[in-house]
Amino acid sequence: QAKAAGRNAMRFFDPGMQAVVTARSELEDDLREALKAQQFVLHYQPQVDGEGRITGAEALLRWQHPQRGLVPPAEFIPLAEETGLILPIGDWVLRTACARLAQWRARPDTAALTLAVNVSARQFRHPGFVYQVVSALGASGADPHRLKLELTESLLLDDIEGTVVKMTALKAAGVSFSLDDFGTGYSSLSYLKRLPLDQLKIDRSFVRDVLTDPNDAAIARTIVALGQSLGLTVIAEGVETEEQRAFLAAHNCHAYQGYLFGRPEPGGD
Ligand code: C2E
Ligand code: MG
Ligand code: MG
Ligand code: MG
Repeated sequence: QAKAAGRNAMRFFDPGMQAVVTARSELEDDLREALKAQQFVLHYQPQVDGEGRITGAEALLRWQHPQRGLVPPAEFIPLAEETGLILPIGDWVLRTACARLAQWRARPDTAALTLAVNVSARQFRHPGFVYQVVSALGASGADPHRLKLELTESLLLDDIEGTVVKMTALKAAGVSFSLDDFGTGYSSLSYLKRLPLDQLKIDRSFVRDVLTDPNDAAIARTIVALGQSLGLTVIAEGVETEEQRAFLAAHNCHAYQGYLFGRPEPGGD
């Protein structure tokens, strides 16, 4: 026991370790405050069709931290997942996105736009998830048919039965689903067939080198063909150049998102 205590004491006084623990718990405290202090913002990145017309946007979360500045999601979503804070944060994202959709709905020139919202694994698995979405839609007056939820492969395969039940319930309410970062997770074709999906989203990592890496080109083409044969639309993310867009278009891709068409920006106007 003395030995165990000694080991713990050693760890406690290891200055490197201590610094990591302190930084992490500070971030966690700040994250808890962030919702109350209204430090989260959504940025909106356009999605376009084959003719380059804007059909909607993806909502991307940022944290306006008083000292750190604008913190990208990769730096706090994992901690939010671990601590469970992703539940209230995800709820805020859904409500804010639906409020934006309701504003778009009120104007004829924006009424048809869709809004894609990212959903984290822990948020989706929560028993109240379906209610969370339906209630955000109801409270805002947004059209459920304009809301698209982005899920990831690993999230879906975790509990396939439960996943199908939740997706089916939300689809009945009018919501649609896109499979984000497609090709990077455990893509099982038999699962893909069972899920009520609407869209596949080609991961940015395949789009980046689509012109120079024959393997990435083959994967991108295969995803488009797979989507077509399953009756799903396909959108490519991270499209930065006209050459990338033209290559994807030549292989029948339906839709695009990336810096070529617009960066994520606040406001959603
Ligand atoms: P994602 O859903 O795959 O989002 C696409 C990411 O690619 C975004 O990064 C976007 O800013 C970036 N991007 C878009 N076009 C281009 C391009 O042409 N070139 C390059 N280099 N990058 C591009 P971001 O905003 O940092 O978000 C990172 C990830 O954080 C998202 O990946 C998503 O998984 C997660 N995330 C963002 N917002 C939320 C949210 O509200 N809830 C949850 N649970 N996760 C979110
Ligand atoms: Mg996404
Ligand atoms: Mg993505
Ligand atoms: Mg991605």
